[in-house]
Amino acid sequence: MEQKIRVRFAPSPTGGLHLGGVRTALFNYLFARKHNGTFILRVEDTDQTRFVEGAEAYINACLRWCGIEPDESPLKGGPHAPYRQSERKPNYRAFAEQLVDEGYAYYAFDTPEELDARRKETANFQYGQATRLSLRNSLVLTPHEVSQLLQDGVPHVVRIKVPEGENVYFNDMIRGDVNFDTSIVDDKVLLKADGMPTYHLAVVVDDKAMEISHVFRGEEWLPSAPVHILLWKYLGWEASMPQWAHLPLILKPDGNGKLSKRDGDRLGFPVYAMNWTDPKAGTLTEGFRERGFLPEAFVNMLAMLGWNDGTDRELFSLTELIEAFDPDRISKAGAKFDFEKAKWFNHEWIKSLDAKALAPLVKPALEAEGIMVNYETYLEQVLTLIKERCTLLPDFVAQAAYFFRQPQEYDVAAVKGKWNTDKSVFFKNYADNFTGEGDAAAAEGAFKSLAETSGFKPGELMLPLRVMLVGGKFGPGVFDIALLLGADEVKNRITTALEVINA
Ligand code: GLU
Repeated sequence: MEQKIRVRFAPSPTGGLHLGGVRTALFNYLFARKHNGTFILRVEDTDQTRFVEGAEAYINACLRWCGIEPDESPLKGGPHAPYRQSERKPNYRAFAEQLVDEGYAYYAFDTPEELDARRKETANFQYGQATRLSLRNSLVLTPHEVSQLLQDGVPHVVRIKVPEGENVYFNDMIRGDVNFDTSIVDDKVLLKADGMPTYHLAVVVDDKAMEISHVFRGEEWLPSAPVHILLWKYLGWEASMPQWAHLPLILKPDGNGKLSKRDGDRLGFPVYAMNWTDPKAGTLTEGFRERGFLPEAFVNMLAMLGWNDGTDRELFSLTELIEAFDPDRISKAGAKFDFEKAKWFNHEWIKSLDAKALAPLVKPALEAEGIMVNYETYLEQVLTLIKERCTLLPDFVAQAAYFFRQPQEYDVAAVKGKWNTDKSVFFKNYADNFTGEGDAAAAEGAFKSLAETSGFKPGELMLPLRVMLVGGKFGPGVFDIALLLGADEVKNRITTALEVINA
């Protein structure tokens, strides 16, 4: 029987969603879709000190924006609900106790003050093989003392007892053979004094309960893998352990270390998927969406950070990514983030979307600038004409504005140097004769012949015409603009501009 593919994205709701987190979600999603599997969102909120109001709703919104919606989640429910770990609290203690009973874990009664004192005494103090016998835990205390402390309700945690001198081995889908010597692994807390599991216990218990078949997660979790693997073994579940795939880091543009939100602030680009307002500090961090990225481009760009299909191809829709995705082609090496490249993806996607798809994205931005769009078809014609020139969505405002209102300023200097009365007469004449009919080539032909019969080289009149219609030296083909504006508007604009230039 073919294995059921079940993968999960398991974020902790602690703030904005970093693009690396979205990539993790994406790779899980692609793998699930490719194999007709199930993509689960599990919210890992057991660390209540790091819980941030609104972060879960924000994660849902980001996934929705990217088009990578989970099949099972806190919102959607599913056969393994609840999908929020804080609501699964009663599920974990029994496993921690089972581990203690079987000698794979122990109770530790050290107070935070005692541990602090040890940390001060010993540089790089680790609770583990070298130190555990000199601390206050059930490995050292007598069974009677331990039951007394438990009975008295003395605060305690449960820690894994990492074995000495063993090698923890696993095969990572991306990294191949991975080995850890247990001497470097510390005795991680599994159950906290408040009865909540730590991430380490909860992740294993829930991956088992939710029948997770493959774990795609960031490389920063690699050092935790030996603890998880020991737990799978100690809980007697080794046969159903998921396959591991630790995704390469997303690096700063210069390749020196992991890309952080601070790098974005420093270098002026977003790192979060969408705008995030920290509810305590009230600070707003800009997201890719609000910077003017299309979700198609954002997702496409993320997929290429550490993955390729084996060819030079870079442009993929989500459906094409599902088709092409193969974890064997995820690279081990970190992927440098390049904002210019991210913009390139967006430009390519803007060019490939048709005006109907772009219109609802651009219209609100225009309206926010006080530009009212009354005719959808007109907007669509404008978008078709200018989309090549737009890299980010806000670029459409500058590029489209003059199609909806007269230029507010004219680059008179660009025209004035070679200006004379004859040119003024020519344009007055042109305005009177411009019909607004035919296509751009015909309009250009008519303009040129009028220029020639009036004794001008057409080339010297093109720039003034552009300035009169749009205000400056920008925009697509000037006759395309003129035809879209229509005869009346062209006449108006030339008349107004002549007054300004001749003033
Ligand atoms: N809760 C962890 C995180 O915040 C999940 C790590 C994992 O996927 O195992 O990223």
